[in-house]
Amino acid sequence: MIKVRSTEEVELMRESGRLVAGALDLAGRLIEPGVTTGRIDGEIEDYIRSNGATPEFKGFSGYPAATCVSVNEQVVHGIPGDRVLVSGDIVGIDVGVRKEGYVGDGARTFAVGDVSEGALKLMRATSLALDAGLAVVSVGVHLSDVSHAIQRVAEDAGFSIVRELAGHGVGTELHEPPEIPNYGPPGRGPVLEEGMTLAIEPMVNAGTAEVKTLEDGWTVVTADGSLSAHFEHSVAVTSNGADVLTVMTG
Ligand code: MG
Repeated sequence: MIKVRSTEEVELMRESGRLVAGALDLAGRLIEPGVTTGRIDGEIEDYIRSNGATPEFKGFSGYPAATCVSVNEQVVHGIPGDRVLVSGDIVGIDVGVRKEGYVGDGARTFAVGDVSEGALKLMRATSLALDAGLAVVSVGVHLSDVSHAIQRVAEDAGFSIVRELAGHGVGTELHEPPEIPNYGPPGRGPVLEEGMTLAIEPMVNAGTAEVKTLEDGWTVVTADGSLSAHFEHSVAVTSNGADVLTVMTG
């Protein structure tokens, strides 16, 4: 059952989403060669709490940090700590914020210093795949139309869609129905209705689609060690398309 949110609820989610965007903007200012992933996490947690909100990931299924910080071949759910970022790394930051009972979820992948042409191309394709998915969101479309649009952009650029992980509904819980795969044929699944709130998040690998989870029980990495990128927005479905909630303005 996919929940439908009232205008008032969507406005509360917009406030949480604004803090997600602010946290990711902060990450973008902090990320440079020499900074630790733990420092980024700590600064973001302080930012969230100083805005009267809580980091939704902390304690979620026992997750130990406020953010997920995933470097290079790490796809998602990297645990921040002592690792020092170096020029040439790419780093995915994923943030969940809860304020007044409503959750926003968003992610971006950043370049650290000078990165390879291939890394830039991967990040650009993943961001464009998310944009393509968002462009399809509207009242009356099938959920898998979104999935299909994402897959086409990523694969047309020569990259692979991670299949074991997916986007999701978001609202009063971080993960709500439906599951939103980033691949598949169009015209399947539930039909989108006004007020559904969704977190759409392509995870795209430079090499093969296969992933595995490290012994820490969290960090998902590419099986072949190739780079991976991740972008995510939380949106509300409207008759005018996707109302993107994880932005600073709007
Ligand atoms: Mg998510």
